[in-house]
Amino acid sequence: MAAPRVGVLALQGDVVEHVQALERAGAHVTEVRTPADLARVAALVVPGGESTTVIRLLERFGLTRPIVDRVRAGMPFWGTCMGMIVAAHDVADLAQPTLDLIDVTVRRNAFGRQVDSAEVELAIPALGGAPFPAVFIRAPWVERTGPAVETLAERDGHAVMVRQGSVLGTSFHPELTGDDRVHAYFLRMMAAA
Ligand code: GLN
Repeated sequence: MAAPRVGVLALQGDVVEHVQALERAGAHVTEVRTPADLARVAALVVPGGESTTVIRLLERFGLTRPIVDRVRAGMPFWGTCMGMIVAAHDVADLAQPTLDLIDVTVRRNAFGRQVDSAEVELAIPALGGAPFPAVFIRAPWVERTGPAVETLAERDGHAVMVRQGSVLGTSFHPELTGDDRVHAYFLRMMAAA
């Protein structure tokens, strides 16, 4: 049997950086644009980008329902930044419906606008070792976590890395730093699923 493949949603956003980081961490990667692509993967990463656009594109490409069904059936999912917004139960300042894959409330652009983007050394005990160089770009924070949600990292008292079962969300962009420990962590979630 062929090795299980990780999908990276490739409708918009920083797709290539995630593909490269996952490959460096040892994964076989497929870019996902259609339900047929989704059917070939065992896990899905949704990159950073623009949540309002991607929520519309997911509908247009017929991906919303298949992604929700797969994740509810146990497929590991990781959303970075926009990807976490799309996966949230609800978003403080967004009118569109989200996929509701993880029981958190997210606030968009919470740390400030583009000019306020920052690289912050984050303590992430689940990764072990040195602090993680976390890049925040018009980043959301998590302002409510449901009882089943584990907070894996905080910045300034706000949750910025959360996990509920096989669903992972990060406010920041591990694909932009060359430190592949979060990608490796997600691949371990996938192996355990
Ligand atoms: N602010 C963007 C949004 O609301 C997310 C930014 C990002 O993914 N880097 O969709």
